[in-house]
Amino acid sequence: MRRIASHYALINGELERGIVVEVDDKGSITRVSHHDNIDNIASVEFYPGILIPGMINAHSHLELAYLRGAIAEGTGFAGFAREIGRVRGNFTTEERLHAASVADSEMWHEGVEAVMDIANDEMIMPIKEHSKIEYHTLFELFGLNAKSAANHRAMAEKYQRADITAHSTYSLQDDLFSDIARLGKETLSVHLLESEDETALYNKKGALWEWYTRMGWECDFLGYGSPAKRIAESVPVERRTMLVHGCQATAEDVKLLNSHFSTPPTWVLCPESNRYISGIKPPVAMFREMGAQIAIGTDSLASARHLSMVENMRLLGDIPLAELLTYATLNGAKAIGIADRKGSIEVGKRPGLAVISGVDFQTMRLTPESESRRIL
Ligand SMILES: [Zn+2]
Repeated sequence: MRRIASHYALINGELERGIVVEVDDKGSITRVSHHDNIDNIASVEFYPGILIPGMINAHSHLELAYLRGAIAEGTGFAGFAREIGRVRGNFTTEERLHAASVADSEMWHEGVEAVMDIANDEMIMPIKEHSKIEYHTLFELFGLNAKSAANHRAMAEKYQRADITAHSTYSLQDDLFSDIARLGKETLSVHLLESEDETALYNKKGALWEWYTRMGWECDFLGYGSPAKRIAESVPVERRTMLVHGCQATAEDVKLLNSHFSTPPTWVLCPESNRYISGIKPPVAMFREMGAQIAIGTDSLASARHLSMVENMRLLGDIPLAELLTYATLNGAKAIGIADRKGSIEVGKRPGLAVISGVDFQTMRLTPESESRRIL
């Protein structure tokens, strides 16, 4: 049994002082108690900083870890897709496996407990299966010429925590998109409104529209009118859904989707990736104002310097720290559907524990020195 304490602990969405967390030798929390003076309690391990449950990375592509530093910053949305295509073939299987394994270990040490990971093939599945992190894998369907989800379904069926998903509302024709959206055991995760070209496409304008037209590709889904309307009309109300990026989402989009779903969808923000690719910031103030459910993802090392949850929290800016930490923990766990076991410091859960150090306790804000490390 261990007794663990810090200056503050994230409890029920608040930062509380004087908290001692007791865990058994399997890592399950057996007691959370409040004390006026922690110094008086025997055998407490004290870690300076804020004690938080293991973090939940709600969006990553671990298989792209080998592209760390391979693509320049600021290419823009279309440029980034082009660059990925260009550099993808330049690496050996060994290099790819090694990079994924290093990134997995970095995330574990930062205190990441579970990940919603997007995949295109099975290459790194053994790494995820043997990791101490709980990975949920979604094999994503992509391509206007894609006709069937059979191959992806066959891959997903081989693994315990895997399913298929639709890449985005601009890269799949109608039948296939609705088919994938209809049901699944894991959460549906769709890249949505990362760039303004996605909305423009539905108005037959912008870079995506021009590119598709040049290639002679037709889209049978533009009649929905907008990416958000397509989601509302294609995804059943009860489906657990993550919408990733949302940089160009409007208050109207959030309202429409909040009212469509029985449980509001989670907007997964990946600000480091947005900074890296386009310099655009997700409209987090609008999301908060609209009461949107928010979680945090790191996206991939093709578009991030590190897979750091703390870095992504810092980039979201001036948000009350307890709320920010809730995005990175409980909200991600809810979005994946594992909040009964992970995402908060509660008796009976086995959430893992991490400590965030380098916090400015005067302003209760993260600083450039803030970092997180796993202690359990
Ligand atoms: Zn992504």
